[in-house]
Amino acid sequence: MIKVQGLIKRFQGVSVLDGIDLEIQQGEIIVVIGPSGTGKSTLLRCLNFLERPDAGWLQVGDLSLDVTRAKKAEILALRRRTAFVFQNYALFANKTALENIAEGLIVVNRWTKSKAHARAREILERIGLADKADAYPASLSGGQQQRVGIGRAMAAQAEVILFDEPTSSLDPEWVEEVLALMKQLARERQTMLVVTHEMSFARDVADRVIFMEGGRIVEQGPPSQLFYAPHDARTRDFLRKIL
Ligand code: ATP
Ligand code: MG
Repeated sequence: MIKVQGLIKRFQGVSVLDGIDLEIQQGEIIVVIGPSGTGKSTLLRCLNFLERPDAGWLQVGDLSLDVTRAKKAEILALRRRTAFVFQNYALFANKTALENIAEGLIVVNRWTKSKAHARAREILERIGLADKADAYPASLSGGQQQRVGIGRAMAAQAEVILFDEPTSSLDPEWVEEVLALMKQLARERQTMLVVTHEMSFARDVADRVIFMEGGRIVEQGPPSQLFYAPHDARTRDFLRKIL
């Protein structure tokens, strides 16, 4: 289970996250929506300490920490429990698909190279890229690169995978294969927190949709409620613009 309490992040004195409280059950699929600049990416990045929050409390699995007092070992422990999938894939250009998936296992989890490579091969099978083990990112399509990005997150066996607009950089022709892989993970009940504009994915896959605005959670609920019977005027206004 994941629990976020009173999470605050400021940039130059401005609160970008203004006290986020959130609980995620194991196996839950959550989609986060909201206007640009509202703090969606910052929320995900704070959960992984890619950004250091200014205040709040985080619990991820058996780890709980006061973000203001987090020590290096706790931050590493948090990162092992939270995997990140980036909009721009963030693969190592000079490493093969196999090496990209294995790298974190070797560096973060301190696995031997042969054990990490064996796991990476299993993952490549699962993401349908077994034949691309030795390919470098530049020779892969955008969709294949993002599937490697997701494979890397899968390899970590984290408590939760954080997806920040995983299909937004893709040419339209590659979006479906990436969403299909995410749906496969959702069927396996991989806990996921997904920022996306793919409303059909949210409708079909999410257990819960969270609407954020101005660094706060305005409203949340199952997609049937949030999309079709939103309570808050700000949610209705946002949905009118995008649906
Ligand atoms: P989008 O939908 O456009 O991706 P978002 O909801 O993900 O938006 P964030 O990227 O979290 O929004 O940004 C929230 C606010 O914080 C914005 O005003 C942004 O300019 C600001 N911000 C984000 N990162 C930084 C940073 N490293 N330094 C200063 N300001 C930042
Ligand atoms: Mg963002």
